[in-house]
Amino acid sequence: MISAYILINTEDGSENVFKSVKRLGEAFLVYGIYDIILKVQATSIDELKEIHLQLASVPNVRGTLTLIVNDSLDFAKRTLRCLACGSEMPLDAKYCGICGAKLLNV
Ligand SMILES: [Zn+2]
Repeated sequence: MISAYILINTEDGSENVFKSVKRLGEAFLVYGIYDIILKVQATSIDELKEIHLQLASVPNVRGTLTLIVNDSLDFAKRTLRCLACGSEMPLDAKYCGICGAKLLNV
């Protein structure tokens, strides 16, 4: 499962955007340079992209910034999970041995 926080800027009318995006995840109206924080969960990057497309189609959304939670490192098991296919690879692997995706490392 992939968790992401999406920071949203809105045109006037944050309330309407808020009502629309609540169906996509856990949403909070916030003060500051962003107007709404939306926490979403997806089973794949493709599903996350789909959520992003739905978000982009909501009227009065001016811009978004998506932060994907990095929970792919398991220091206890010394493994790294591929975000694309979910396979576990050694901590020092650069690419997934199953699907070939580049692995995110810190
Ligand atoms: Zn993979």
